[in-house]
This record gives sequence, C-alpha cells and structure tokens, in this order.
Amino acid sequence: MALIVQKYGGTSVGNPDRIKNVARRVAEYRSRGDRVVVVVSAMSGVTDGLIKLAKDIAPLPSEREMDVLLATGEQQTIALTAIALHSLNVPAVSLTGAQAGIVTDGVHTKAKIHNLTPKKVRELLKQGNVVIVAGFQGETPEGQITTLGRGGSDLTAIALAAALQADLCQIYTDVDGVYTADPRIVKEAKKLEEISYDEMLELASLGAKVMQSRSVEFAKKFDVVFEVRSSLNDNPGTVVKEETKSMEDVVVRGVSLDKNQAKVTLVGVPDKPGVAARIFKALGDATVNVDMIVQNISHGSLDKVGATDLSFTVDKPDLLKAQKVIDGLKKELGFRDVIATEKIGKLSIVGVGMRSHTGVAAKLFETLANEGVNIDMISTSEIKVSVVIDLAKGEQAMQAVHAAFIGC
Ligand code: ADP
Ligand code: ASP
Ligand code: MG
Repeated sequence: MALIVQKYGGTSVGNPDRIKNVARRVAEYRSRGDRVVVVVSAMSGVTDGLIKLAKDIAPLPSEREMDVLLATGEQQTIALTAIALHSLNVPAVSLTGAQAGIVTDGVHTKAKIHNLTPKKVRELLKQGNVVIVAGFQGETPEGQITTLGRGGSDLTAIALAAALQADLCQIYTDVDGVYTADPRIVKEAKKLEEISYDEMLELASLGAKVMQSRSVEFAKKFDVVFEVRSSLNDNPGTVVKEETKSMEDVVVRGVSLDKNQAKVTLVGVPDKPGVAARIFKALGDATVNVDMIVQNISHGSLDKVGATDLSFTVDKPDLLKAQKVIDGLKKELGFRDVIATEKIGKLSIVGVGMRSHTGVAAKLFETLANEGVNIDMISTSEIKVSVVIDLAKGEQAMQAVHAAFIGC
C-alpha cells in the first residue's frame, strides 16, 4: 500500500469535466489500496484573472493583500475536487495550506516554507480519506496568509512528499513530460525519459515553466524523486532524479526561453567602491530578484572618478518595484539616467555534459549569428549558457538553437 502525492496544475482542473477526470484518476489509485494526497492549483486563468483585477484597481497593490486574494483561487479547487470525489463515493477532505501545516516566512508573494508538520494530513489519511491540499499557499507563524511564488503548487506537492516520506510523487500537467524545449514553441522537441535535478533546476529557472524552479531545488535538497506526466493520458512521463554517470554523455539536455524578464540599465554610474553594493542591497531589501548583471568598462582616468553603465535583469512583475527603488537612489548615487525595457528574452542551453565538452558556447554564438540575432548579455555556469536577445527574435532563435544542438 503506497502513499502517493499527486499534483494537478491549472489546466488539469480547468473545468468541471477536468475536475471529474482528476477525481476518477484519484479514485482508481485509491481502489488499488493506495493512500492519496492530492495537491491542486487554481483553475487555469483564475490566478491571472485575480492579478488583473487587483492591478485594474492599483498598479502596485499591497503584497499582503495580493496573497489574501490569490490564495482564494486554490481554495475553490480543493472544495470542487472534494465534491467530485464525494460523488464517486470516495471519502475526501479538503485542507488549505495552513490547515495542512505549511508554515512560511513573511515574504509575501514569494514566501519560503519554514517548516511543514502534516499532522492533520496524516490523521485524515489514517481515517481512510483522500486529502486534498491547496497548492501555492501557506501561513506565517503569526497567521498571515502567504503564497509561494508563481507555479508554487509544485512546491507544495514536493514539500508534502518529503514531509510525508511518500513512496511516489507525481506532477500531473498538460504535457506528458519534460521536453528538450517547450513543445508549444519547438515542434521537434523530444520528450525526455529522465533528467537530473540540476538540469531541471536550470531549465526551470531559465523559463521552462513546466516545473517551478524552487520546487526542484527543494526536491534536490530532500532527494524527492518525482515524475512529470499528463493528466489527459496514461503515457509514461519524465522522471526527475539525482544525476547518473550516463547523463554526461548528452551535451545539451534542453533549450529554454524566458520571456518573463526585463532589463534595467543605469547610465553614467560613478565608478567607485560601494556603488554596486548599495544598488543591489536596496533591490534585495525590496525583495526584487536580480538575475544577470553586466557592467561596462569605465570611461574614467586615474585622477578622476569615471562613469560606467550597469545593466541587470529582473522578473517582469518586479520591474515597477525595481524602478521605484532605483529612482530613490538617483540623487544619492548620481547616475545620469535609467532605461528599462521588457522587450528581451533570455535564451539558454542546459546540460551536465557541458562540464566535459568544449566549444559549446562558440557553437551557440555562431548559430545565433547565422540567424542574425544580436547578443545583448551573456552569462554562463558549469552546466548552462544564457544570452539575452531581442524578444521579437526569441522563438526563431530557440528553434534554430534546438535544431543545432538537439536536432529535428
Ligand atoms: P500546470 O498548470 O500544470 O502547472 P504549467 O503551465 O505551469 O502547467 O506548465 C506546463 C507548460 O510548460 C506546458 O504546457 C509547456 O508549454 C510548458 N513548457 C515549457 N518548457 C517546457 C519543457 N521543456 N517541457 C515541457 N513543457 C514545457
Ligand atoms: N495558481 C498559482 C499560479 O498560477 C500556482 C500554481 O498554479 O502552481 O501561479
Ligand atoms: Mg505550473
């Protein structure tokens, strides 16, 4: 008798028929004698709709109130899923994140899980219930409602699987696994049988939204092996697990395109010690996640403080907040101008095989050059190369890079 954690994303619970379909699948596992914990997202479009509602009222709404608002999306789905299971005569109880024992820090809209004590979940399972937990939400020790960042239901599922020491963790979504690229953009993308935590983590944090990156980080830390698969068919999915020796044979496991980044450039920043520290400390204090940073060579001379340009990328939803922070520093630091653009895409190639193969970056740059795509920023790590390019050319570039490294 296995203990299984299943997570169903927004499309998988997107309408009443889909919710009934989820209930049927859960009932089937239960009839085999398994104990099932189900984590659900808000129905597709609900979270975006709530964000739009708030922004129609105020462009920079209070993050505490956003969490109160957004947590309602998942709360609808848990009740509807329980109702669907009841109509199949399966005993089921829904729990909010807080009721399930998910305690977080107080960083609203991107809270981190502090601890998880699923006492209530265990009790309800013991009584023979299917337990349905609202994804994406938790509560601070003081009782404030929090959310875990976009796509955070994945994290709820992985964290519950770790805390309950589940035998199986399944992430059900609208594609039947992790592909070498987003199959909506690259028709030739291939489904992967397995992928390492590190590769999945890089792909996820570089735009492959099939998994929330923080959930993969958590899975790696607590060694939760999980499978990404479709809620619409029974095809085998992709297993995400610790790296094995043979994984290094593949140079590029996947290609991703992040369209959710914005670039900020500070023009004429005084080139002296402490300036960068001041800027990025202020952004950090405002909980703005900064990703790539590039600083130009200073145009100064030895006897005079020079000036330089400093560019960095942030998540698009954080752009307004970042601009507010930067505007507040203009007088103190004395830079000339601020330019912000949302028209960028971050294209990345990822693979643990890059550690042992050379010439990968050169081949990427050459492929982009042949497509007439200009490179704006570059960053690399042991297992990835990322470039910032013009958003308008993002998909074309992704298809060309996929063809060059993975094939048709
Ligand atoms: P859910 O609502 O189930 O959490 P998401 O929309 O968050 O689903 O993630 C699934 C989507 O991720 C797919 O529809 C697909 O377009 C996209 N995606 C991006 N990159 C990949 C990839 N490498 N492999 C599979 N899907 C990907
Ligand atoms: N509903 C939340 C979102 O859309 C969380 C999730 O779907 O995982 O981001
Ligand atoms: Mg998701």
